[in-house]
Amino acid sequence: MERGNLFIISAPSGAGKTTILKRVLAAMERVVFSVSHTTRPPRPGEQNGVDYHFVDRETFKAMAQQGTFLEWAEVHGNLYGTSSRVVADVTGEGQDIILDIDIQGARQVKERQGVKGIFVFIAPPSLRVLQERLAGRATETAASIATRLSNAREEMQSIGNYDYVIVNDTLERAVEVLQSIIIAERSRNRRGLAGEPLRLVF
Ligand code: ADP
Ligand code: 5GP
Repeated sequence: MERGNLFIISAPSGAGKTTILKRVLAAMERVVFSVSHTTRPPRPGEQNGVDYHFVDRETFKAMAQQGTFLEWAEVHGNLYGTSSRVVADVTGEGQDIILDIDIQGARQVKERQGVKGIFVFIAPPSLRVLQERLAGRATETAASIATRLSNAREEMQSIGNYDYVIVNDTLERAVEVLQSIIIAERSRNRRGLAGEPLRLVF
């Protein structure tokens, strides 16, 4: 069986990554979200094992030391990491997996020998729109919005390391582009549009 693809998706905070991913994951078959481990406390509504595996710093450090993570990084003061085993198991079953990780983590995956990732960057149409979306989401303080905006300028400098860039202007269009990328990569990978193995009998 052909292996599934490994998609790495990064975006400045507030660019719309979570919104786009939820839609794509609900609409497509054979694509799985990689649930990261983090030391960040859960936000209201977040579920352990669904949004993240929430662990304390000591546990996280021990896991990192044992080589549990394909990549890990400190982002906005908290540790985040991706389980190597889950990525290997899901792609080994012929399913695609999506990693929602920051630019440091993406760089680590890119540098890993023997790991082939497809790197997608989601950009806001402008910094002004990004600011409006962060303010509109009403989850951040003014100080946190300012930090995220200044980080966004820096993150945008990494765009050259990604295979695809999606500008999230209208949500429907951004969702369509990400689905198209997943489908195109499946075709490259000798699989059908729904990610199924091709049975070509001649
Ligand atoms: P991220 O996961 O990248 O931090 P979110 O998905 O939480 O970002 O989106 C930030 C805010 O912007 C949310 O309130 C969301 O509803 C809104 N949003 C996302 N995409 C669009 C879009 N294309 N047009 C308008 N608002 C959007
Ligand atoms: P949040 O705390 O808002 O959910 O995520 C903050 C940032 O951490 C986002 O940029 C997100 O992509 C990133 N992130 C989430 N999980 C991981 C992970 O496993 N590894 C890395 N490197 N970054 C992650």
